[in-house]
Amino acid sequence: MSTIADNIASIKERIAAAATRCGRDPASITLVAVSKAKPAAMIREAFEAGQRVFGENYAQELSQKAKELADLSIEWHFIGHLQKNKAKLVAPIATCVETVDSVEIAEALDRRAAQRLKCLIEVNLGDETSKSGVAPAGLEALARKMLSFKNTGLLGLMAIPPYDPDPEKSRSYFRRIKGLLDVLNDTLRPQTPLRAVSMGMSHDFEVAIEEGATIVRVGTAIFGER
Ligand SMILES: *Cc1c(COP(=O)(O)O)cnc(C)c1O
Repeated sequence: MSTIADNIASIKERIAAAATRCGRDPASITLVAVSKAKPAAMIREAFEAGQRVFGENYAQELSQKAKELADLSIEWHFIGHLQKNKAKLVAPIATCVETVDSVEIAEALDRRAAQRLKCLIEVNLGDETSKSGVAPAGLEALARKMLSFKNTGLLGLMAIPPYDPDPEKSRSYFRRIKGLLDVLNDTLRPQTPLRAVSMGMSHDFEVAIEEGATIVRVGTAIFGER
């Protein structure tokens, strides 16, 4: 049976191989270990294996685990659908909220952020199964607004393609997300270009890296089935 440490080591090797294949620096890719539904003890085990960035989907669960693991310097990414009334719970704990999809959520986070909170906009390319994420048509306005905020910093985009067991089927989706980021940079010309693209999960992170992912979110391949 492989341990969490073994799994992390093997994911890191695969990240490095995918990056190298397309001429990218492996160090430019952040691995978020998605720990939803897994106990704090497993997060501690991953931390001891050197993992620092963890992803959680539910505000209450994040808050509980952050308390249990307060002795560790974990960087928490919030990757679930965020309700406006949960912003006050998430903002002081998270270092990055990956799933901003409305001005209301962005404003709520900006009001509550203790130190500078990194944010990504979740984009939805029109997949009917997912209700979260902003449509490409609304992206520019939301990004423009967020770039004017004081306490939150917009770093880039996040996306979840419609599930397909064949990662090659998601390649064009990933490519379009990276394309949207390039367009945003061309149109808005932010002081610091938006560089972050969070895409790719256990079954498709290599293809995502080949298409420009800078953040991959991996749960099952590290912690096992949920
Ligand atoms: C659960 C989840 C993941 C991890 O998925 P795995 O298939 O377990 O790697 C990544 N991103 C989001 C938004 C998730 O909800």
